[in-house]
Amino acid sequence: MRDTTPQPIHLADYQPPPFLVENVALTFRLAPTATRVISEIRFRPNPDATPGHDLRLDGEGLKLISAHLNGAEITARPDQSGLTIPAQDLPEGTFDWQAEVEISPDGNTALEGLYMSRGMYCTQCEAEGFRKITFYPDRPDVMAPFRVRIESDLPVLLSNGNPASLGQGWAEWHDPHPKPAYLFALVAGDLVAASDQFTTMEGRDVALNIWVRKGDEDKTAYAMDALKRSMVWDEQVYGRAYDLDVFNIVAVDDFNMGAMENKGLNIFNSRYVLASPQTATDSDYASIERIIAHEYFHNWTGNRITCRDWFQLSLKEGLTVYRDQQFMGDMRSHSVKRIEDVLTLRARQFREDDGPLAHPVRPESYVEINNFYTATVYEKGAELIRMLQLLVGQDRYKAALDLYFARHDGQACTIEDWIAVFEEAAGRDLSQFKRWYGQAGTPRVDVSEDWQDGSYTLTLRQHTPDTPGQPLKEPLVIPVAMGLLGADGAEMVPTTVLELDSPEQSFTFPDLPARPVASLLRGFSAPVVLNHSLSPEDRALMLAHDTDPFNRFEAGRALARDILHAMVLEGATPGPDYLNALRTMVSDEALDPAFRALALHIPGQDDLASSLYAAGHVPDPDAIQAARTTALRLIAEALRPQLQDVANAMQTPGPYSPDARDAGRRALKVQAVSLLARADEGAKAAELFARADNMTEQLGAWGALLAIGIGQEEGAQFYRQWAQDRLVVDKWFSAQVMYAAPKAAAGLVQQLTQHPDFEWKNPNRFRSVIGALGANPAGFHATDGAGYKLVADWLIRLDGVNPQSAARLSTLFETWRRYDEARQALIRGELERIMSQDNLSRDMGEMVGRMLG
Ligand SMILES: [Zn+2]
Repeated sequence: MRDTTPQPIHLADYQPPPFLVENVALTFRLAPTATRVISEIRFRPNPDATPGHDLRLDGEGLKLISAHLNGAEITARPDQSGLTIPAQDLPEGTFDWQAEVEISPDGNTALEGLYMSRGMYCTQCEAEGFRKITFYPDRPDVMAPFRVRIESDLPVLLSNGNPASLGQGWAEWHDPHPKPAYLFALVAGDLVAASDQFTTMEGRDVALNIWVRKGDEDKTAYAMDALKRSMVWDEQVYGRAYDLDVFNIVAVDDFNMGAMENKGLNIFNSRYVLASPQTATDSDYASIERIIAHEYFHNWTGNRITCRDWFQLSLKEGLTVYRDQQFMGDMRSHSVKRIEDVLTLRARQFREDDGPLAHPVRPESYVEINNFYTATVYEKGAELIRMLQLLVGQDRYKAALDLYFARHDGQACTIEDWIAVFEEAAGRDLSQFKRWYGQAGTPRVDVSEDWQDGSYTLTLRQHTPDTPGQPLKEPLVIPVAMGLLGADGAEMVPTTVLELDSPEQSFTFPDLPARPVASLLRGFSAPVVLNHSLSPEDRALMLAHDTDPFNRFEAGRALARDILHAMVLEGATPGPDYLNALRTMVSDEALDPAFRALALHIPGQDDLASSLYAAGHVPDPDAIQAARTTALRLIAEALRPQLQDVANAMQTPGPYSPDARDAGRRALKVQAVSLLARADEGAKAAELFARADNMTEQLGAWGALLAIGIGQEEGAQFYRQWAQDRLVVDKWFSAQVMYAAPKAAAGLVQQLTQHPDFEWKNPNRFRSVIGALGANPAGFHATDGAGYKLVADWLIRLDGVNPQSAARLSTLFETWRRYDEARQALIRGELERIMSQDNLSRDMGEMVGRMLG
């Protein structure tokens, strides 16, 4: 067992920092196992704090060489988490702290702080990595300008801000913008840059560089293009211009997260930078575009205006996700983007909200902040901002944001500051809306309808389920965008936004010529579960006619879900109505191919497990998998001619382009071919695989073959072709695991872990093998428990070297209470086994502890 139980940190305990930092100078003498870091920090007492405090500096795993106060050497004794200089030893007023420490980047497998990735030095400091570099008040409300000197023989030496001077074996950087330590970054390596230039609306010339390893230069064009479009968009839509002379992006192979917005020096997981048509899928391109934009947008929402403390994380993440969603909608298709975002929200955030890891967008306490970089803080946080915009309107949203930037530039802020600018700009009280930030759980909205004498009455009831530590929930403000459709599909009442702010409310629409069909929660106007019983005929009407593209999609999805539930529970088969509606939809050339591709996807295994559980059933992963397989085969047989036509029609003449139009056509082609494989034994998929000249089609076709239990030869060919490309080898691993037959899945993963390319300390590779089992629910939940044991074994092993990544992957178990007693007992056994490990990390201890409850 762990010898010390880490104590939670509470939002309510926040105290302002007793000392502020006026400026920081850092010198790095880089060496793999003995890097010296010399820090010179000027402190001054914080006028907003009570006087007489000790100076407490955070520091972990640092070997202190020497320390000075105002130039005089002192003896300081670090403890496990930092060091303290007693108040009586501190000079009056402003004083200078100087320290030299030694660290070992080469021995840093946790990838937090300064570490090495294949011969290159890089950093990851959010949330609390800077304390592994030097002693510092490592909290976001301490902001300071940084000067950095790097000494190394490596040719490229980078840090935040603008280059100051450069010589043989050294470089100096100056970042004039005060920033918290979590935004510090340093990179040193043998890198090459793809370079470009941008002139801001304020007339500033900015040098843009994307730094990669030699040989990867030809895979940066799309990231650079996305960066320039992001810069233009933020100027045009939010009026925000870039504020330094250089903007550097570095691609790193070993990285725990997607990317990091360090001021002027963004560091990216290489999978979100590098792309070529042959090696990246359309969805990789879309991820690159989105993440490049996201990190760039943080320059204002996160860096210029940061968080007071980590409880406010959604202040920067929710807003920046919302901004990247808006950007992607503008670049591509708003309706397709919205559908994709909602599918992700439900798959990740609703799953989290309905289980033992549920927490509010602004948590009240944490043990390890790394565990709160969650779908709730990010994706639900973005939904709250979308609702705010809907409630106050476009113009007032813009006014609120202008006020936010004007008032809080250079500050570390709170959710209260954020709500206040909306209250002022919109002139309304948002205290009830603010509950969304504090209340966990996905609200349910139950619908009942009444039709009498030409008058339609809609009654909405809201309730939010209990979540850990939060049994009592108060009513929220829920914007419900809705319209009314006539029997011919024409709109009787166009989209209006109802505000549901009580437990129950009724809305009456008089003088209607006929009973309407209510299209509710248009555009998914709030992150809730809508319980609206509609007849299959009404759903089919909406699928054919709703003017709201999201609800059109949703109607088809609901039909499919109802049918799959009946298949799982009663052994039913899909009726002709559903198949006819699907047939009409797939051939409707007026519909965007990307939309048709999405509408052809039936709900996934996890989606069905979750919806069955919500309906009061114990989901059986094997029955779900079998029902899906049958449904896909029946759809393929019923729609075979239409699928063949669509697969043939969706050509993309000319050179490959990752744009939305061509990507949508490829998505529909691949989806049609994948379905057809269930009816033609993979003939069309094998043909597509053989002539594919891009990764979207090659991987899509191979996946279609794997899904019907063949494709071994294609897999071998795929590996031979791409063995030298790390990012493609990740795909090679994960596709096999995702599509493995359930009973064979754990055995296959076990076998793949013996493969010479299974570098388990690389987070991308670990996720592509072990994590991929999460995309094969029937395999993961195999009744013999082999999947559970295998994952637990590997989580224990990974926890010893990289606690943050291991804790994140432990969420594979987060839905465990949904399942039958036998499976629950097996999972509980594995969670308890993890919990009983010696030296379990704080990260993993907190996650598993919460899951066990
Ligand atoms: Zn972010």
